[in-house]
Amino acid sequence: MNSRPFTLLVVDDSQSTLPRLARALGPEDFALRITAHGPEVPRLAQEVSLVVLCPGEDVPGSLALLERLTPGDGALGPPVLLLAPPEPRQTWVEALRRGAEVVFDPWAPEELLARVHRALAVHARMEALATQVGELQRLSATDGLTGVHNHRHFQERLREEFRRAQRYDDALSLILLDLDYFKDINDKYGHSAGDGVLREVAGALTRGVRETDLVARYGGEEFALLLPRTHFTGALTVAERVRRELRALKLEVDGALQVTASLGVSSFPHRTVLSPEQLLLTADEALYQAKRDGRDRICLHPQLPIGPPGT
Ligand code: GH3
Ligand code: MG
Ligand code: MG
Repeated sequence: MNSRPFTLLVVDDSQSTLPRLARALGPEDFALRITAHGPEVPRLAQEVSLVVLCPGEDVPGSLALLERLTPGDGALGPPVLLLAPPEPRQTWVEALRRGAEVVFDPWAPEELLARVHRALAVHARMEALATQVGELQRLSATDGLTGVHNHRHFQERLREEFRRAQRYDDALSLILLDLDYFKDINDKYGHSAGDGVLREVAGALTRGVRETDLVARYGGEEFALLLPRTHFTGALTVAERVRRELRALKLEVDGALQVTASLGVSSFPHRTVLSPEQLLLTADEALYQAKRDGRDRICLHPQLPIGPPGT
């Protein structure tokens, strides 16, 4: 088993640099693997910490490899170090352009070592940044209290999904849900108990829909369920299941405490639903109708036909 922390893939047809590389890097924390230019290099490169590219006679081969190893599409490929003479310039200029490290041949062991360490350090920093960016993206789309998506992310996805549904002539449904008399729960049990109820409701909603559906906290005690590829009959089934599940929730606050919700459903395609804003507005109107009709119930956007559209 290899106990050295870094493995370097040396791409060198002649293998002539290997003994010098081994002398320069061997005493350090590096294990060397050697291969020739070829189509398997990108796969091998995934398994190592750094690729040392030695073009030798095969300048076009090295340029092609550079292109594959540093695609420049935002994906973080393996770090690459080019070991090449100053002529022809084309190779090392291209390597620099693609963000690779360059060391001119003939090279001094100290310089090579310093460049290898620098390439590894830069790569490690970029990986850490990519992880942080991913985590920040996740956080910026998440509601801090309930862990479901937040209002901003919902608005983005609503627009995306609406565009997609329009383009592919597909269905899209939206359920807006508002907890009934939630103020009373806060008043009776306290705000932090109310927060706990919101978390449990969010959990129940997440369990109650498909993975391809989106659950978001729309505002205070209001949630949105966005259901791609779902006609209003399907949305109605989901809404009814969710309504029953919320009613049946065993809340930790108090054995006797029950929450109910009012739900408004709207769907695309429909002649009055021509934009994401109209989908939202019509679901909101339906929700307020459900409140007016007595709560703990579902209302459809009033313009929707009653009866199956053949989902
Ligand atoms: P309705 O059936 O008409 O919807 O009655 P309601 O009491 O739910 O409606 P109202 O809009 O009067 O009150 C909403 C309540 O939701 C009041 C507010 O304190 C509570 N609320 C909003 N956001 C939060 C939150 O983050 N945590 C807690 N605990 N309560 C919240
Ligand atoms: Mg409300
Ligand atoms: Mg409410």
